[in-house]
Amino acid sequence: MHQVKIKGTDQSYPVGKIVCLGRNYLDHIRELGNKVPDRAVIFVKPASSLLADGGTIQIPSYSNACHHELELALLIGTEGKNIPEGQALSHLAGYAVALDLTLRDIQDELKSKGLPWEIAKGFDTSCPLSEFVPAAQVENPNAIQLTLKVNGEIRQQANTAQMMRSVEEIIAEVSSFYTLEPGDIILTGTPAGVSRIQSGDQLEGEIEQVGTLKVSVA
Ligand code: ZN
Repeated sequence: MHQVKIKGTDQSYPVGKIVCLGRNYLDHIRELGNKVPDRAVIFVKPASSLLADGGTIQIPSYSNACHHELELALLIGTEGKNIPEGQALSHLAGYAVALDLTLRDIQDELKSKGLPWEIAKGFDTSCPLSEFVPAAQVENPNAIQLTLKVNGEIRQQANTAQMMRSVEEIIAEVSSFYTLEPGDIILTGTPAGVSRIQSGDQLEGEIEQVGTLKVSVA
């Protein structure tokens, strides 16, 4: 069972489901030529996809286009269903830096056939994740800067203020579909700048007030 810790405390949580939001930044929707969704686009990664800070990404041999997606991760600390936006932040235990690695070629192929994308999103090591910082350490999760560098070059740079759905709205909407339980993780979507990674690449994600995540590609 995967466990995540809250930095500077003795709190740890067994990881439940990892719920991911697609299409939450307009500039990323445009770069992929997707439509703006009415309802949130939601998918789930298995806990076996987690990769700790400092780890090595293994790109599956069945893909030639593994893309990075830098995202703010939320850790649920208190159970809830149909959580009102006004109470959403009180359900959070922490924030972390995450990558939602995506096999774009496999995803495009499955999407074009109208099939689920699971294997393009949930493979082993597809969810690199930093340590969580306590939720109280982040003053306003809807106004923090995200930066991803690959081999020292900036590939993604944005602010969570550009999200179409705020952290509160995401928690409210996700909890209308799924009961959120302690240890569940939510990935809040990626801004523009996604691109292919390859063997030997060094990735460094940074989110203001949250921390950094460093991983490499085998
Ligand atoms: Zn994503």
